[in-house]
Formats: sequence, C-alpha cells, structure tokens
Amino acid sequence: MSAASRGTVVRFDAASGQDPKGKHRTPPASRYQGWRDRTCACGEPRITVVQRLKTFFRTVFLIDLVKGLLLTLKYTPQPAFTFQYPAERRPVAARFRGLLRLQVEPETGAQTCIVCDQCAKVCPDDLISLGGHREPGQKIKILDYFDFNLSRCSFCGLCSEVCPTKPVKALIMSEDYELGTYSRDSQILRVDEMYDGVPIEQYTR
Ligand code: SF4
Ligand code: SF4
Repeated sequence: MSAASRGTVVRFDAASGQDPKGKHRTPPASRYQGWRDRTCACGEPRITVVQRLKTFFRTVFLIDLVKGLLLTLKYTPQPAFTFQYPAERRPVAARFRGLLRLQVEPETGAQTCIVCDQCAKVCPDDLISLGGHREPGQKIKILDYFDFNLSRCSFCGLCSEVCPTKPVKALIMSEDYELGTYSRDSQILRVDEMYDGVPIEQYTR
C-alpha cells in the first residue's frame, strides 16, 4: 500500500532535483500522483472535504459547547465546598501542624511536661524558653514558665517531635490555626496560654 493510499501527506523531497526549501515546488506527476490534491502551493497540507464537514457540523451543532456543559453537569451534584466561617470551621488534615500547645493528663489534669528542655534546644529559631523547679522529695520538676514566640515559628514540628513524654505527649502541634493578634506582644505566649484549648488573644483592641 502506497503512502498516498494510506492517507498520509506525500511531500516532495530533494532527491527529485528540485529546491527542497522552495515555496512552489512541482514534483514529477508520475512519482507524486495526487500530491497537488493534498498540499497547497506552499507545501502545507490541504484541509480535506471531510475535515471541513467535521468542522462545519461541530460548529453548527455546538458540539464543543455541549461537551463543556456536560463536564460542568458531571460535577454539579457534588456537595458545596463552602464553609460559613467563622460559624463553621473547616476540618484540618490528620497531620496538620497548627499552634504549639501543652497538654495535661486527661484524667487528672496533672502536668505532663517533665521540663527536660529538649524542645527549646531543638528549635532552630530559639523560640521556646522554659524553666522549672524541683519540690523536695519529688522526682519530676514543676514547670514555672514556658514562653513561646509564635510570631517567628515556622511550624516545623521539631519541638513536638522530640518531646519524650508518654503516653500523653506534653507538647503537640494542635489544630488551632486562627493565630492573628493585633500586637506583637500578644504573639509571645506564656505558660497559661499554652495549654490546649485556651484561646490566644484575638482581634481585641
Ligand atoms: S515548630 Fe519549629 S520553629 Fe516552631 S517552636 Fe517548634 S521547633 Fe521552633
Ligand atoms: S520536650 Fe516536652 S517534656 Fe521536654 S520540656 Fe519540652 S514540652 Fe516539656
């Protein structure tokens, strides 16, 4: 089967002796029968009658428009992805890293932090400062202060990762993401603001 009968565009090549870069090439009729039917004078492929008819019907029957509308209809029954914030809050992902929080024992409310200072040492920006004291006869230190500079935190999670307490991790990356305050001082969280569930000062003048 010849290339022409397979429907491919037959192009004139340099072997015929003609200028291959010339705009108006005229190949020998015997070798390239039908060449003129498939290419225009500049050598580009002609648009065939079938292609013209296809384009005509696509335009008349608005095929592309109908395809676009069908795609829109396909996604229309989906539930709305809109939350009435702040009345509704979007649930966060399981591994979301929000505001750093201290946790207490859920049953007793006792302090879980053992004042080991690992979180402060690992922080690449030196944003945590903490200290405690040991009561006579007690093994575990009492946490006196825990200052955290929220304004420069990159939420890398290293401090929470190294926290060694089990089964309750003393320091977690919580789901809190509403962290805006009006003053820079409010971005320094003290120990009583660090506990999980305590809202930080927000939008108050
Ligand atoms: S999340 Fe990273 S940057 Fe923020 S306090 Fe912890 S270690 Fe420092
Ligand atoms: S790493 Fe955990 S236990 Fe150690 S000081 Fe920080 S919060 Fe407390």
